[in-house]
Amino acid sequence: MCGMSVVSVVIAAATSLDDRQLLFITVVAVIVFLATSTRGAPRRCRRCRELNRPQAVFCAQCGVRLRSR
Ligand SMILES: [Zn+2]
Repeated sequence: MCGMSVVSVVIAAATSLDDRQLLFITVVAVIVFLATSTRGAPRRCRRCRELNRPQAVFCAQCGVRLRSR
């Protein structure tokens, strides 16, 4: 429910913009997406299967040392 209202607000905001503003926002969104997705794959703990940050050395869930790549 909450997510749907956020989506409708975003759509309402997007339709009130002109094409250049919409293009700018789309480009920024793609850049942010690429910047966050190329930082490396999340590291899954071999003991508890927790997904940890790519930079993580120890598992956030169980504290086991993650394998270095
Ligand atoms: Zn773990």
